[in-house]
Amino acid sequence: MSSSVSALARPEAITRYEPVIGLEVHVQLATATKIFCSCPTSFGAPPNTNVCPVCLGLPGALPVLSRDAVELAIQGSVALNCSVRPQSRFARKNYFYPDLPKGYQISMYDEPLAEHGWVDIVVDGVAKRIGVTRVHMEDDAGKSVHEGFRDSERYSYVDLNRCGTPLIEIVSEPDMRSSDEAYAYLAEVKQALQFIGVSTCDMEKGHLRCDANVSVRLKGAEKLGTRAEIKNLNSFRFLKEAIEYEIARQVALVESGGRVIQETRLYDPDAGETVGMRSKEHAHDYRYFPEPDLLPLCVDEAWLNRLTAAMPELPARKRARFISDYGLREYDADVLTAARPISEFFETVASVSGDPKTAANWVMGDLMGLLKSEGKEITESPVSAERLGELVGLLSKGEISGKLAKDIFAKMAATGQPAASIIEKEGLKQISDTGALETIAADVIANNAKQVEQYKGGKTTVLNFLVGQVMKATRGQANVGVVTELLKQKLGS
Ligand code: ADP
Ligand code: MG
Ligand code: ZN
Repeated sequence: MSSSVSALARPEAITRYEPVIGLEVHVQLATATKIFCSCPTSFGAPPNTNVCPVCLGLPGALPVLSRDAVELAIQGSVALNCSVRPQSRFARKNYFYPDLPKGYQISMYDEPLAEHGWVDIVVDGVAKRIGVTRVHMEDDAGKSVHEGFRDSERYSYVDLNRCGTPLIEIVSEPDMRSSDEAYAYLAEVKQALQFIGVSTCDMEKGHLRCDANVSVRLKGAEKLGTRAEIKNLNSFRFLKEAIEYEIARQVALVESGGRVIQETRLYDPDAGETVGMRSKEHAHDYRYFPEPDLLPLCVDEAWLNRLTAAMPELPARKRARFISDYGLREYDADVLTAARPISEFFETVASVSGDPKTAANWVMGDLMGLLKSEGKEITESPVSAERLGELVGLLSKGEISGKLAKDIFAKMAATGQPAASIIEKEGLKQISDTGALETIAADVIANNAKQVEQYKGGKTTVLNFLVGQVMKATRGQANVGVVTELLKQKLGS
């Protein structure tokens, strides 16, 4: 078939078309137990051990909806600026697959949990709002594991541990126009949900999976082209690669007089291609109907308000606040809100030190450097946020020099001691006391007659040399500002 061996369009052909992309994102909710039973959701248990009659779909077993799952789903919806519907309804989506023992998935259909949201992205400095059509809850299926290559040695196994794991599906509007926008959208969704603890969004464990719907149309055309859906993209890189391949494939197809068929495709990362899996024209009729074993889900205003109030600040707001309240640069605010533990670490350093800008520099520079070299996460930092805050405070009050602060930081990391005790023990306190510096400055002037002459003759840059001499004599512990003033005074300028 033509769909498997496909030519790609040249870049100049592609530029005449506009890609249209919509994403469906499945996110595993961070509950301890499954959505309709109390089996654990823990990852990596021996196959088929985290199961019970409910998630195995045995006859007569009845689902009981998990409050935790609903609450996380509601908070995720709010984070994506969706309106949570006062009433939503679970529906059966019927199909047969070996990893689906019930013979149906419990999902939502025409009465989803939430709708009409949005996510703001920035690509190449341009801000754009991407619509979120809906968020609905559903249960996950099990996992099929395939083994062996030759027909005589091929085995398939079914592991039902994942059956009944709570998911939300987030469906976007077809608002994205490039793989970069799709990437930015997914990154923003992931960051928001991780920030508020709705999901770990660990892609390696399949906690975040993405289907990309892609179509192309001639630039300026109104009507959307026919889309192909690329299933189960489990990394950001694959998302980008698959979309780019798919755009080039579709443009080539249309340019050569063919037509895109609505179908489900898979991305093969080794070949760097998408491959047709099944045509939507032969798609199942899922025969959705309201789930008879569950009542409609009602979310009253009081509950919704309580859950919204309990949510931590979202990353987008935090970013804006770091810029407006702390005067951070946009780039710094981005780095410091990349994950919640980083933002919390930074805010503690900022408040303990009283100097947010210096705090930002230290967290992004010395601290991240240290963590990188030790291969540690910020939550495992050998220097706590409070301790770093104390150090930054001493530095910004001028009690220690920048160079000294770096030395002390290294010692803090190695010993776990607070800055104050290292300073105390090693006698490292910066000398700002003019009395003590006076004698040293006088010595330096007496011992460097030539430079003093040059300075008095108008070559003022020599002052730096003299300041350097005082710093050397005090092993870097003198306050540079005080020394400079003192020398100027003594040299009579
Ligand atoms: P389905 O249930 O068949 O997957 P949906 O209506 O839920 O269909 O749409 C799935 C996704 O496809 C949505 O994210 C939507 O934005 C996107 N989409 C719809 N039409 C197009 C199109 N012509 N081109 C690209 N994406 C599209
Ligand atoms: Mg779909
Ligand atoms: Zn169970």
